[in-house]
Amino acid sequence: MKKALMSSSIVFMILASGVMPIWAGEVSISWYGQACFLIVTSQGTEIIIDPVAMGGYAVPENITPDIVTVSHEHGDHNAVGSVSGDPVVIRGLTSEAKAYAEIDQQIKDVKMYTVATYHDKEQGSQRGLNAVFVFEFDGIRLAHLGDLGHLLSEEQIDEIGEIDILMIPVGGVATIDSEEADQVVAQLNPKMIVFPMHYRTDVVTFMPDTAEDFVAEKEHVQRIDGNRYVLDLDQPPETLEYVVLNYK
Ligand SMILES: [Zn+2]
Repeated sequence: MKKALMSSSIVFMILASGVMPIWAGEVSISWYGQACFLIVTSQGTEIIIDPVAMGGYAVPENITPDIVTVSHEHGDHNAVGSVSGDPVVIRGLTSEAKAYAEIDQQIKDVKMYTVATYHDKEQGSQRGLNAVFVFEFDGIRLAHLGDLGHLLSEEQIDEIGEIDILMIPVGGVATIDSEEADQVVAQLNPKMIVFPMHYRTDVVTFMPDTAEDFVAEKEHVQRIDGNRYVLDLDQPPETLEYVVLNYK
């Protein structure tokens, strides 16, 4: 009986995971450019973070996520209409982006909350507000910093809390640059993985810093030939790894 239950739940997860089969004990993380990621938890719950639709960057049409989150209402982060299916959309800012929505909720196996930050170094007066999303699932805490424009305050560091996986902008101009990103990594001290995002590529050229500018001097760097990283929950990285994904 127990065996039958187990195999049926594996079949369910294959059906529910969309693009690729996901086995229990794995978390899949794909990058689609700028700050847009797909996370698939071990339970098959799919989250699209900061959906993008610009140049060669796009969320694939065959992805039908359960949840879409939006850190702030700029066009390279809130292309919610380009996402297929009928996801729950969670916006970090209120309408017209004038205030923080102060998210704290659970959907399926994913808990999430937001931390109030700014898109610039001047309290948002230049580029507006930005919501950091912290996700909890599979015993992991993941922070996505959106378009963070400044180093963190002590209060923000406390609110974000202990982090295993960090998604951090490194491109500069619109956000913190690669050197400031090093300082934010030191502030948050993530345990497993840092994914750089929102940097110069062949698609988006207005930002000065590339992913290589950020990881060049780092010790543990994994450059993935493709856009997907799979985390084995039984064997997470023991020392901090920097993982650079392609956008396709
Ligand atoms: Zn942006």
